[in-house]
Formats: sequence, C-alpha cells, structure tokens
Amino acid sequence: MRENFLPFSKPSISEADINAIADVLRSGWITTGPHNAEFERQVCNKTGCAHAVALASATAGMHLLLKALNIGPGDEVITPSMTWVSTPNLITLAGAKAVFVDVDRDTLMTSRKLIESHITERTKLIVPVHFAGAPADMDPIRSLARERGIALAEDAAHAIGTEYKDVPIGKTGTCIFSFHPIKNITTGEGGMFCTDDPALADRIRQLKFHGLGVDAYDRTTHGRAPQAQVIEPGYKYNMTDISAVLGLRQLSRLDAFNQRRMELAIRYRERLEEIDELLPLADPPYPHKHAWHLFIVRVDIDKAGINRDAFMALLKERNVGTGLHFRAAHLQKYYQEAAKMQQESLPATAWNSERICSLPLFPDMTDRDVDDVIEAIKDVLKD
Ligand SMILES: *Cc1c(COP(=O)(O)O)cnc(C)c1O
Repeated sequence: MRENFLPFSKPSISEADINAIADVLRSGWITTGPHNAEFERQVCNKTGCAHAVALASATAGMHLLLKALNIGPGDEVITPSMTWVSTPNLITLAGAKAVFVDVDRDTLMTSRKLIESHITERTKLIVPVHFAGAPADMDPIRSLARERGIALAEDAAHAIGTEYKDVPIGKTGTCIFSFHPIKNITTGEGGMFCTDDPALADRIRQLKFHGLGVDAYDRTTHGRAPQAQVIEPGYKYNMTDISAVLGLRQLSRLDAFNQRRMELAIRYRERLEEIDELLPLADPPYPHKHAWHLFIVRVDIDKAGINRDAFMALLKERNVGTGLHFRAAHLQKYYQEAAKMQQESLPATAWNSERICSLPLFPDMTDRDVDDVIEAIKDVLKD
C-alpha cells in the first residue's frame, strides 16, 4: 500500500510561479491590472478567440452571460444534468427554468439529437458541456442553435487546450473556461469568458465591474478613472493580478501539462484492460484533441460486488483519492423536488451518476503513481 495519500488532483505550482506572485504583491498593484490584460491577450493567442474577459470564476462568467442575455422568469435554458451545479443554480436564481438534457452513455456528451426534443418557444440558451477534456459535437449543435435562433454558450471548464476538428475550443462562439485549482491550469480561482461577439464581450466587461464603463486599471491614469460612471448596475467579478500572473505562467505550460495528462491516461487505459469491473469513458467518434481533464471510470456494480461509494471509500483507505464528476443535477435534492423529475427520464445520466468515479490525474503524477492506483483497485476488487 502507498505510504502517502495520492490526491485525485493537485495543481502544478513551480517556485517561479510563487516568485511571480510575490513580485505582484511587492509591485503595489495587486488587483485587476497589467497582468489581467496580458493574460487575456495570451488566452486569445492560445485559443484563437477574438475577445477574452478574465473573471473571478467560470461561475461568474455564466452569471454575467445570463444577465447579458436578459434571462429571467418564463425563460428556459437547456443544459445537461451531467454538469457542475453552478449552471442550474444560476439559471434557477435568475428565475428561469433549467431544462435538463441527457448525455451519451459512454462519452458523457450531449448532442443535437438529445437537445432538440427539449426546445420550446421559451428556450433562450443552450449550454453544452465539453466533458472531461474532450469536445462535444459542436457542428450539429451550432446549426441547431442558428436554425432556431437560440443563444449558445459552451461550458469549457474542462476544455482549455481541447480541439474540435482541429479548431481550439474558445475560438468559435462563446466559451467559458475555469481556472479552479483542479482544472488543467489554475489561477487559484478564476475564469475566462471568450467570445467572437464584440458587443457581448463589451457587455461582459462592463457587467463584471459594477457596470462602470471602464476596467479597474487604466494605463494612463494608473488606476480607474475616478470619473467613470455606472452605465447599468453590475457585479464585482474581476480577477486579481495575483491570479492573472499565475494564469499567465500556467498557460505557458499548458501544452506540457496536457501532454503529461495524456501519457498518464494512456497508461491508465492499458492497465485497466485487465480490470473488467471498471469501464472507462469512450473517445468521441469525431476528430478531436483531448485535454484529459479527468480520467473517469464507471464501476460495474454487478461484477464488482460493491457500489461506487464503497469503491471510493475502499480506495481512500488505501491512500488513493478519487473524485465524483458529477452527481447528476436532476438527482440532487433541490432539483428532484423542484422538477419532480423521474430518474428514468434521463437514463444515461442516471446510470452514470450512480457509477462514475474520477481516478487521480494531474501533471506531476508519476507512472508509479498510476501503478499504485491500479494495485489499490485490484486489491479493492480482489474478492
Ligand atoms: C468547474 C466547473 C464549473 C465552474 O467553474 P468555477 O471556476 O469553479 O466557477 C462549471 N462547469 C463545469 C463543468 C465545471 O467542471
């Protein structure tokens, strides 16, 4: 058994990252400033997006989007139930209805076919999720949204570095990235709102800082112009420069991080072939580049003789951490009661919600760590 605990995720922070943060702290300007502007520029360079707005979180980005699209009572937003609860929570808090859609059983991606039957005249927005680091099949979803005149925003929290048909996620349409510490790169907490719509980018930029017509940092005044006026009531969702400088440094290592994640994923796949109690996710059938945000397996409850929760607990006893991405939103207490939704209505989501488990995956893991996880799994499943 492992001597020390292997967490399921751990950010890769270098001494140079720490020094860069210390330099910002010493500089006299620690909130939104030059590093924010540079981080936004570099995310545009990396993804090919036209406009990027750095924010306090991806959740903040979704909140601002709902506000910018004026989504409220009477409106519906279609989102997979297999997502992080931030999206349905914000839709609900806006007074609108989260309409949950199923996903493919083995990729956890939603699709045009699944979304289509949920569209009504009240549908204002569709939010597909690029799950675990692979992309959703966007071409059919984009044409559906275009045909029906419905806004589309991609939840790209797992997808920095992901490509769909040779195009980076972020370049097309509106995409929201997350830099929470478990994501492929981190800013401590943070997010990036990327869009090819200049008017939407301006609106998000305004809403993220009190609805003032300008950013916190202005090069000429070396601070916010004191004359700035409220154009509309806004929020306080800007990113600090302490975070942005970390994001800049992490972004420069994104390719190396994702390469290492892929190597570890390949090793997991090879080693898991011997273990038929666990079923890894499948690769989507269309061309893509995987960012390997998560390595997810499904526990075959009949073959394993234990359920997912017991599997996770027994691994923890063997010093191996795991994650659960995600317990389906429509099966959470609030949404079950609010929607009175039958579990059977989203069969693939419900099936996965009972069985999914994320194994440890982060760039600083060694091959030996993967082998330790496999050994611990074999030990848990041995009888
Ligand atoms: C992490 C995550 C979010 C939220 O990101 P934050 O930056 O923590 O707000 C949204 N959607 C998905 C699918 C996520 O995994």
